Amino acid sequence: MSAWHAELAWLGPGRGVAERVLVEVEGERIARVTEGADPPAGAERLAGITVPGLANGHSHAFHRALRGRTHRGGGDFWSWRELMYQVAGALDPDRYLELASATYAEMALAGITAVGEFHYLHHDPAGRPYADPNQMGEALVEAAGRAGVRLTLIDTCYLRAGLDGQLLAGAQVRFGDGDAGAWAERAGAIRERAGLRVAAGVHSVRAVDPAAMATVAAWAEARQAPLHLHLSEQRAENQACLAATGRTPAALASSAGVLGPRTTAVHATHLTGTDVALLGATRTGVCLCPTTERDLADGIGPARSLADAGSPLCLGSDSHAVIDLFEEARAVELDERLASERRGHHRPDDLLGAATKAGMTALGWDAGHLAPGQLADLVTLDLSSVRLAGARPDEAVDQLVFAASAADVSSVVVSGRQVVRDRHHLLVGDVGAALDRAISALGPR
Ligand SMILES: [Zn+2]
Repeated sequence: MSAWHAELAWLGPGRGVAERVLVEVEGERIARVTEGADPPAGAERLAGITVPGLANGHSHAFHRALRGRTHRGGGDFWSWRELMYQVAGALDPDRYLELASATYAEMALAGITAVGEFHYLHHDPAGRPYADPNQMGEALVEAAGRAGVRLTLIDTCYLRAGLDGQLLAGAQVRFGDGDAGAWAERAGAIRERAGLRVAAGVHSVRAVDPAAMATVAAWAEARQAPLHLHLSEQRAENQACLAATGRTPAALASSAGVLGPRTTAVHATHLTGTDVALLGATRTGVCLCPTTERDLADGIGPARSLADAGSPLCLGSDSHAVIDLFEEARAVELDERLASERRGHHRPDDLLGAATKAGMTALGWDAGHLAPGQLADLVTLDLSSVRLAGARPDEAVDQLVFAASAADVSSVVVSGRQVVRDRHHLLVGDVGAALDRAISALGPR
């Protein structure tokens, strides 16, 4: 049993900010939450405002090595992808362990307590399985353990180079299992354990044909596991899908049984009105990654329309151009302001809910509220920082969403264990040095 006493705490969407909140924890879960309480002897004091753990719904850990190296030039998603493939080609299980450990530690410092890793870098650079066919996935599991965050390993099926059925080539041969049956067998061999959920991924309608998509969906259904897919990030994907199948990617995914309440569509940027209605009616979640989408000049997704149609929204830092879920949260609103020339599309409470509860649900975790029975994730922000100074309790959520940064996170508790204290990572120590070592090890590019 441990006890945490928060000066202020946001209890979850629609539940407001309370003062002097005592959170009692048994094992990894919250046992009791008491508002207006005095701190009992032995309680850990959390100065500032405490919120539930942030969920990073979509990550490619190795993209962290591209930060600062791809922004200067021109081009688009497709030219950026060539650079990304160069990094992918340089990774082996040991290097990936170091890079992912440091990247997940950066996430912990930013208040992220669970990450969904969209993992398709399965095999060696020649496309041959490692001695343990899940060695790369296990490196990610170990990395999350070192960084002290929970991992949803979204083991992703990736079978072909395009809708015309072209075979995987070059860097892509690492991604492929040959067919969906082989994917299912390999992914099914990963054992869930404390802090790890195994989920299913369909890379995209480009990379997985409808019959294979159906196999992946059935695998996820049998396990009641989350299922994630990239959807309509690029107009070119829509055009190719329409040309090859006569359907939009959303309609094609739907016809293969991929949509539904355990499914999360990542990006969902270029949708038709019918696509929006289809995602909403099936309660398919949508993971928006605005800092990546703007970095790659993808476009602005119809977030308000999706939420109105019935799709829960969550957030991901995806390519890790930055790792800051407060920045992702406000970007959802601010991008729609720029596109519509109107303010007030999303309530701050709902945006913080996307960063917490909705993301945890998309990743398969009982977390995201400060409430009994939930995993005990407590993220505390320093209200004396220059960005947050002057915040009053009744406006604190607005100020968090529109002005906080990852640098304001001072303490992080994950499943009842403190991982960050006084902005210091208690397990990794110097996270900057760890990132520098891991990225330098990939060699000059
Ligand atoms: Zn992605």
